[in-house]
Amino acid sequence: MLHARLKHGKERSLLRRHPWIFSGALEAVDGHGKSGDTAAIYDSSGGFLALAAFSPHSQIRLRVWSFDPSDRIDAVFFQNRIQKAVARRMKNGTLPCACRLINAEADLLSGLIVDKYGDYLVAQFLSAGVERWKSGIVKGLEAVLRPEGIYERSDAEVRLKEGLSLQTGLLAGEEPPEFIEIQEGGYRFLVDVRRGHKTGFYLDQAENRKIVAEYAQNRQILNCFSYTGGFSVAALKAGAERVVNLDTSGDALELASRNIQLNGLDLNRCENLQEDVFSCLRTFRDRGISFDMIILDPPKFAENQHQLEKAARGYKDINLLACKLLRPGGLLVTFSCSGLVSTELFQKIVADAALDAHRQARIQRRLFQSCDHAVLLSFPEGQYLKGLVCEVE
Ligand code: SAH
Repeated sequence: MLHARLKHGKERSLLRRHPWIFSGALEAVDGHGKSGDTAAIYDSSGGFLALAAFSPHSQIRLRVWSFDPSDRIDAVFFQNRIQKAVARRMKNGTLPCACRLINAEADLLSGLIVDKYGDYLVAQFLSAGVERWKSGIVKGLEAVLRPEGIYERSDAEVRLKEGLSLQTGLLAGEEPPEFIEIQEGGYRFLVDVRRGHKTGFYLDQAENRKIVAEYAQNRQILNCFSYTGGFSVAALKAGAERVVNLDTSGDALELASRNIQLNGLDLNRCENLQEDVFSCLRTFRDRGISFDMIILDPPKFAENQHQLEKAARGYKDINLLACKLLRPGGLLVTFSCSGLVSTELFQKIVADAALDAHRQARIQRRLFQSCDHAVLLSFPEGQYLKGLVCEVE
C-alpha cells in the first residue's frame, strides 16, 4: 500500500469527510504508485486519515475509499458498497425499472456511475480508482443485481484528466438491444445506451418530468433542448394542447417522436424543429410567436471556472428570450446542470433575464436532480442540477 503524507493543515477537508485531495495538498507519496493503487493518507504528524485511490495524472490526486483504517480495499469491499447503494434505491423491496443505482461520491464510490435500464446496467468508470477495480466492481454488480448485461459508457472526457482513454462496450452478460424500453412513472421511453448522451437517458429529470406534467394541461409548450422528448411525453400525457421539440440533434428528435407514439400520444400535437435554440428563440421573437410554457434544459454551459462568465451570459440570453416569448401568466421552466453555477447564481441570472425582458416573474417551484442522484452533505459539489418554475406576468 502507498503511503501519502499531507502538508500541514491540509487535512481539514478530510476531517470534514470531503473525499478529494488535490495534488497541492500532498507533501509526499512514498513508493512507486501506479494509477488506481490504494494509498493510506496521513496528516503531517503521522496520524491516519483515510484510505484512497491514487491518480498520478489528475489534479485530484487521491479519492477516498474509506475513513476506517481497518477496511480492506478489495472486491468484497466494492460488493458491500454496491449492495448498500442498491438498498438505498429499493422501494417496497424492489428497484424501479429505470434509476441511477450508483451515484459516485454520494454512494462512497468516487468516479463510478451505474444506471439501470430495465434488465441492463450501464456503467461509467470515471476515475483511476474505479478503473483499477473494474473487474471486481463488475462481478459485484452481477452478484447483487443479476442483470442481463452490463454495458460500459466510459466515453466521458473527464477520463482524460485521469490519464485514462475513452472506452465503450459490453462488460458482462448479453449485448443490450438497440433500444431498451423503460417505464418511468407512467411513461415509457426508448433508450439508446450505445449512442445516447451520458448513459443514454436523463434520469436526473425523472421527478421534474412529473412536476412539468402538473402544469402542462391545455398549454402550448416549447421544449428547448428537448433531447428524446422526456418532458414532451410528460406534458402531452397530462393534456398539453401542443408541444414543439427544439434540438440540434436529428437522432434525438426522431427518438422523441418514437417516444411520443410509444405512449399512445398523437404526433399531430407535436412538432420537431431541428435548430439552434439561441437563433430559433430570436426568430420566434421577431415573428411574434408566443407560448404558454417554455422549458429550457440546456447542456452544461460551464465545464470549468474559466467558462463561468460565458456560461452565465448563455443562461441569461435564453432565459431573457424565453421570458419575451411567454404569454402573460405563462410558465418558464428553466434549468442549469452546471455544477459551477450555484442555485443562488442561477436564480440571479434568471432574475436579471426577467428584468431585462420587462417581465415580472414569480417562483412557483424550485427544482433539483432526482433523489436517486443523491448528494452527500460532505460533498456539496454533487448537487449540479437546479431549476425554477416561474410564472411570468
Ligand atoms: N431535456 C432533455 C435533456 C437535454 S440534454 C431531457 O430531459 O431528456 C441537452 C440537449 O441539447 C441535447 O439533446 C443536445 O442535442 C441539445 N443541444 C445542445 N446545444 C443545442 C443548441 N444550441 N440548440 C439546440 N439544441 C442543443
